[in-house]
Amino acid sequence: MVEVQSRVAAELDRLAPVLDSLGEAFAAVGEELHLVGGPVRDAMLGRSHHDLDFTTSATPDVSERILARWGEACWDVGRAFGTIGARRGDWQVEVTTYRSESYDPDSRKPQVQFGDSLAGDLGRRDFTINAMAVSVPGRAFEDPFGGLVDLAHRTIRTPGAPELSFGDDPLRMMRAARFAAQLGFTVAPEVVAAMTAMAERIEIISAERVRDELVKLICAPYPRLGLTLLVDTGLADRVLPELPALRLERDEHHRHKDVYEHTLTVLEQAIDLEERLGSRPDFIARFASLMHDVGKPRTRRFLEDGTVTFHHHDVVGAKLTRKRMRALKFSNDEVAAVSSLVELHLRFHGYGSGEWTDAAVRRYVRDAGDQLARLHVLTRADCTTRNQRKADRLRRAYDDLEQRIERLSAQEELASIRPDLDGNQIMELLGIPAGREVGEAYRHLLELRLDRGPMSEEEAREALLTWWSSR
Ligand code: ATP
Ligand code: MG
Repeated sequence: MVEVQSRVAAELDRLAPVLDSLGEAFAAVGEELHLVGGPVRDAMLGRSHHDLDFTTSATPDVSERILARWGEACWDVGRAFGTIGARRGDWQVEVTTYRSESYDPDSRKPQVQFGDSLAGDLGRRDFTINAMAVSVPGRAFEDPFGGLVDLAHRTIRTPGAPELSFGDDPLRMMRAARFAAQLGFTVAPEVVAAMTAMAERIEIISAERVRDELVKLICAPYPRLGLTLLVDTGLADRVLPELPALRLERDEHHRHKDVYEHTLTVLEQAIDLEERLGSRPDFIARFASLMHDVGKPRTRRFLEDGTVTFHHHDVVGAKLTRKRMRALKFSNDEVAAVSSLVELHLRFHGYGSGEWTDAAVRRYVRDAGDQLARLHVLTRADCTTRNQRKADRLRRAYDDLEQRIERLSAQEELASIRPDLDGNQIMELLGIPAGREVGEAYRHLLELRLDRGPMSEEEAREALLTWWSSR
C-alpha cells in the first residue's frame, strides 16, 4: 500500500502542470474537476499516461469555454455525451460532465443523462478499479467502491451488482475480458457468473464497439486470459463463434480440445516472434494466428484406418475468416491481410526438405505480397509439437526457405514481380488493341516470369511471339 501511495504521488507530481492549471481554472468558476479512470488506475500500477480523462460538475459548454482558453487546441469529442477534448503541449485531456446513464434494454444506444455528483458518476463506471478519482487541484483521493483493494488483489469487479451493470451496458462484459487480458487480473466469480448468464445480451451491441474491445483484448499482453473468459462464458459463441468451435469432440464422450489449445499456443508463439515485424503489438499477425485453423471443424473427415484429415481447411478457414471479419466491420485491408495469411499458412509444408524450385519460391513470395513477414511469423509459430527433433527440423527448413527468398530477392526484386513486358509493349508487338487478349498475354508472360526468373526484353519478345503464333 505504501508503495502504491508513493507511486501515485510520483505520478501526480509528473502530471502537476496539467492538474494544477486545469483544476484551478474549473475551481475559479465554482466547478469540481477530478482525474478519473485509466490514468488513476495506471498510476497505481506504475504506468504513466499522456491522455488524461477528467470528470466534472460543469456542463459541456462551460468545459469548452475553459478548455478553449487552457489548451492550444480544443474540440468537441461528443457534446451529447458531455465530452470535450483539448491539447496542450504533449498532453491531451478529455473532460466529461458527470453522468448517470442507462441503457434501454432493447436499444443499441446509451441514453445519456448528466448527473450531479462524483459518487453517482463513479457508480456507473464499469469496474471498481476504473471508479477511482483524484480531485484537482486539492488531490483528494476518492474511492467509494474499494477499487484500491481490488487493484491490490488484482481483481476485476463491478461497483454494483454485475447483472445491473451489464444490463445497462452489455459491452462491459467484453471490457471485463479485455481488462483481464491487459492487466493479467482475475475477473471476480460473481462477475463471471453474470457474464455467463447474460452472454446473449451482447447481441444488442453494435459490431464496431464489440470489434474495438476484441482488438484491444487481442493486442493485450495476456490475450489467452481474455479469450478463455470469452469462450468459457459463452460470449465467444456470440462474437467469435469460430474460436469455441475449435474445441472439437473426438467422440461423443470425450471433449478433444487439441485444436483450440494449439491455437492459443500458436497465438502466444506468434507474439514471441513479433519483434521480427517491428510493430508490437501486431493485430493482423495475432488475429491470423487465432483464425488460422478455423476451417478444421468443417473439413474434418475420419478415414477408415482411424486417422483424421482436414483437407482444404486453409481455403475454408480463409472464407470463414473473411465472413467473420466483415460481420465485425473490419476494413477491407484488414480482411484481405488476415484471410490471405490463413489461406497461405499451410503452403510452406510442401517445402519439407527444401526441394522447392525457384518458381515455387517466387510464387510463395508473390502470393504473400506485403504479408510475407507475417506469413513467416505465422508459419513458424504454427508448430506446437512436443517432439523437439521435429520442431528443430521445421525451424531449420524455414530458416532455409527464408535464406532462399533472400538470395532470390537480392537477384530479382521478388516482391514486385511483373512480366518483362507491359501492356503497351504487348499491344505494340502483337499489333492488337486493348482487350481480353492483352490480359491473356500479360498473364502468360507473368507465369513465364515466375517459372524462369527475369528475362531480357529480347527474350520476352521472342517468348511472346512464340506463344501468340501457337494459339
Ligand atoms: P484505455 O483508454 O487505456 O483503453 P481506459 O480505462 O481509459 O483504458 P476507456 O475505454 O478509455 O478505458 O474508458 C475510460 C473510462 O471510462 C474507464 O476507465 C471507465 O471508468 C469508463 N468507461 C468506459 N467505457 C465504459 C462503459 N462501457 N461502461 C462504464 N464505464 C465505462
Ligand atoms: Mg482511455
